[in-house]
Amino acid sequence: MFDALIIGGGVSGMSCALVLGSAQNKSFVTGKKIGIFAHQKSSSLQDALFNNAYGIPPGKLGSELLSESIEHLSKSYPHITQIQNEKVIRIEGEAPDFTVFTNKSSYKTKIIVVGIGSANTFAIEGLTQYVIPHQKALPEKQRIQLKNEDHKVAEGIYVTGTLAGWRSQLAIAAGSGAAVATDILTLWNNGTETHAHDSIR
Ligand SMILES: Cc1cc2nc3c(=O)[nH]c(=O)nc-3n(C[C@H](O)[C@H](O)[C@H](O)COP(=O)(O)OP(=O)(O)OC[C@H]3O[C@@H](n4cnc5c(N)ncnc54)[C@H](O)[C@@H]3O)c2cc1C
Repeated sequence: MFDALIIGGGVSGMSCALVLGSAQNKSFVTGKKIGIFAHQKSSSLQDALFNNAYGIPPGKLGSELLSESIEHLSKSYPHITQIQNEKVIRIEGEAPDFTVFTNKSSYKTKIIVVGIGSANTFAIEGLTQYVIPHQKALPEKQRIQLKNEDHKVAEGIYVTGTLAGWRSQLAIAAGSGAAVATDILTLWNNGTETHAHDSIR
């Protein structure tokens, strides 16, 4: 049983995983099992080139970020389970007992984070009832989002990145994933606000 399972290994999903991973030494995170479906085939990053994203050197290719983020997560936070090459197709159950089905296997989790982008090909059975037209994209682009309040879709289900209704910019997607991570950490800390910082001091 995972405590939190992130669907989507793009900008927002990886950002969420990194912040959750970095909180490993907090007592309320001890023993928590966290995973991410590091599926990347349909990521917006595949064709992107970044000259305007905070902290990222200009000229950086999105395809480089895809492989570097996987390496970053596995080197810095090896306790986070990365599930490679599996596409999520269905979700069953309700909080805190979801089953996530992929094209190859199934996994149990208490919390689901979905960050799979805003393409209208969205087809995860069990989540389609939350799909609405994207509120900030041009209607002719036919983007979609999941209906949410401050990233929360339903009890135990969070959405991140463009699928949460944000405009398509790397920094926004990364911030959205990080925001959900801190919401989950706060939940695990019995509702007392928390975040994850490192310092040279
Ligand atoms: C060509 C292009 C150029 C861009 N240039 C810029 C730029 O210059 N500056 C800027 O700030 N932003 C730019 N962007 C936007 C930026 O890349 C996106 O805003 C950002 O990637 C969105 O993050 P996300 O997490 O919502 O989605 P993504 O990063 O697309 O991640 C979604 C992830 O979900 C995975 N996934 C999808 N379906 C499933 C499934 N069923 N099961 C499991 N995993 C699944 C995908 O494989 C992918 O890894 C550009 C985008 C594109 C397409």
